[in-house]
Amino acid sequence: MSAVRRVEIPLLHDNHTHTSLYSAFGSCPDLAGLDALGALAFLRSLPDDRLSVVRGWKSNELALDSATLAELPPALLINRSLHGFLVTDAGLPFVEAAVPDLAEHRGDAAWREANVPRLFEAYCGLAGIDDAKLAAFLESLVPQGIGSAEDLAVASAPAFRVLKANPRAAAAFAGLKLFASMPPEDRAACSGVKLFLDGAIGARTAAIESGWIGEGAPLMTYDDAALLGELAAAASYGAGLAVHAIGPLAIEQALRCLEAARREGLSFPLVRLEHVQFISRDQAFRARTLGIVLSIQPNFTSDTVDYLDRLDAATLERNNPFRMLIDEAGFVPGKDLLFGSDGMPHGIAHPAACSLFPPVPGQRLSLEELVAGYGPARGIEGTVTLEIDEARREVRVAGTRLG
Ligand SMILES: [Zn+2]
Repeated sequence: MSAVRRVEIPLLHDNHTHTSLYSAFGSCPDLAGLDALGALAFLRSLPDDRLSVVRGWKSNELALDSATLAELPPALLINRSLHGFLVTDAGLPFVEAAVPDLAEHRGDAAWREANVPRLFEAYCGLAGIDDAKLAAFLESLVPQGIGSAEDLAVASAPAFRVLKANPRAAAAFAGLKLFASMPPEDRAACSGVKLFLDGAIGARTAAIESGWIGEGAPLMTYDDAALLGELAAAASYGAGLAVHAIGPLAIEQALRCLEAARREGLSFPLVRLEHVQFISRDQAFRARTLGIVLSIQPNFTSDTVDYLDRLDAATLERNNPFRMLIDEAGFVPGKDLLFGSDGMPHGIAHPAACSLFPPVPGQRLSLEELVAGYGPARGIEGTVTLEIDEARREVRVAGTRLG
């Protein structure tokens, strides 16, 4: 008997990606598929007379020394994590003219982590976005099983107007500065304010206290007083909230400040905590009491094996504790437990494999739970056929049908 079974699921909604940024990136060269030598040859072949915005740079595979940066054509290289970038010497005058703050802080990791929304705005401005680029990005998701997508850091005011016009992309959160600068009708159409409390595991800056191998240290964006100020500002607009918190220290700060905000009488129509990869049982129960929605990426379950180079196994086993969240704390997929991709990767095949065949049993999600947490696509309908190979522990999308 064949170990491969075929299952039909609906075309799905991705509750967490970066729609405006990835749409803008559609026109940018991508180093992702190249090895270090191929990437270097490609960079040498870029035009000399203008700035190229290049994505998919893997800093750990292609280290660029100052002599190499001095000889390359004008380019801004964006790290795979999106939080880091590099400018070639010839690219510096272009970057200084267009986005002077990026040029000034290019060597400053702490500034970059504290200014992720600004980075996305700058990347998107340099690469450009319009209706056609958004439509092309959304079409590229359909064969991967995704029909609509939510933007968790709208890149800019022009980008929001492009998203707003497309029902498959209209759900979107913006940084506080951008949200505050929007006209009232755009604020009303926007899902709310996005705040980043810590860094990322890839950048070794997630708010995880111990367990780092080699460098690695929690990077917290705010002290409590500053975060309460941001919460008060968001509440004054009646805005929803989406709060990036990966490590336990950042999750703790989010809960502590949201509990304090509630005592001060602040309220929000919606509070989402994004990622919460290392949420504890105690934190999960407190989040439920506060009526918080958790928005998690099942594809990051594979961090448990992918990041053994930077975090110890005992820490990584606490990543994405879905069984505790559902069976003990009582979160319900699709209701107060949402799933998305963060674009790493976008397709449903990888998170389905992570969910059905996780490294740690407590990370398991049934296919029904996974589908409920993503939810059906918005503004488009279809079905997706998955092929699930139990023996090889693999999932692939065999086909998508619209209508
Ligand atoms: Zn994200």
